Amino acid sequence: VLDGLRWGVARFGNLFFPSDCAVCESPLTDFRSVPVCASCLNAPEPMVAEFACRECQTPFLNEYPLLPDGVCAACRLGMVEYRYLYCFGSYDGALARLIHLFKYQGMKPLAEPLGRLLVRALPRHQEFDLIVPVPLHWWKQWRRGFNQSAELARVLSRHSGIPWRNALRRRRATEVQAGLTRSERRRNVAGAFAVDSVTGKKILLVDDVITTGSTVAAISRVLRRAGAAQVSVIALARVDRRLPVQAANASSVLKSQSAKSGAI
Ligand SMILES: [Zn+2]
Ligand SMILES: [Zn+2]
Repeated sequence: VLDGLRWGVARFGNLFFPSDCAVCESPLTDFRSVPVCASCLNAPEPMVAEFACRECQTPFLNEYPLLPDGVCAACRLGMVEYRYLYCFGSYDGALARLIHLFKYQGMKPLAEPLGRLLVRALPRHQEFDLIVPVPLHWWKQWRRGFNQSAELARVLSRHSGIPWRNALRRRRATEVQAGLTRSERRRNVAGAFAVDSVTGKKILLVDDVITTGSTVAAISRVLRRAGAAQVSVIALARVDRRLPVQAANASSVLKSQSAKSGAI
C-alpha cells in the first residue's frame, strides 16, 4: 500500500486532472499523463502518396516530377545532402496538433506516443549505427526545458535498439535562413555546430517536422564532413505541398516543372 501511495504521489506531478482533450475538446474521463484522449493519440495516420521520390520521399501530385527510376530531380542533381528521408505523416490535423502540444506547450510525456510513430516510420531493410537528434540551441532548450528531437531519439532508440547520442551541439543560434543565398545558408549552419566523433557511422538524424528540408540537409552535410559514412533522416511529419493550403504554391511549382520538362 505504501509503495502504491508513494508511486501515486511521485506520479502526481505528471498527472493532469480530468479536463478537456487538448486536441478534440471532448471531456476526459480519466487521469492521464497528457490531457489528450486515446482516440486523438491514435488518430495520426501515415502519409499516403501514390507519387513520391524513392529517396527523399517528397510526395507529388502526379508522376511528372519523378524520373523513370522514381527519383526526383533534386535527388538526382545531388541537391539533397542526406541519403533517405523517412517520415511518418503529413503536418496536418491531429498529428500537427500533437506535435505543437509537445513542442510549444511543454507536454513532454507526448514523446512516448510520438516516438512510437517514428518506430513505425523506421524502415526494416536499413541498418543504422547511431541515432542523432537535431540539436537545439541551449537558450531555446533552456526556455523550452527539453529538446524535442532528443526526446524522440531516446524513445526511438529504446524501441529499435539503435544507440543514440547528442553528437551535435549548437554553438550559436542559427540566424534566420530566409533571404540568404544557398551558400550563405550553408555557412550559416556549418559554423554553428560542434560535432562528436561520427567517423564511419551510418547515422539516422531525428527531427520533428520537415518543412523545406534545408535544416536537415545542412546538418547532414555537417555530419558527412565530420566523417559519417551515411546520413538518413527520420521525422514525425512533413509539410505536404499537395494539401489545399499550399495549392497555390504547389501549382506554381508544378507549372515551372512542366515548363521545364516541356523544354526538354
Ligand atoms: Zn481528443
Ligand atoms: Zn528526392
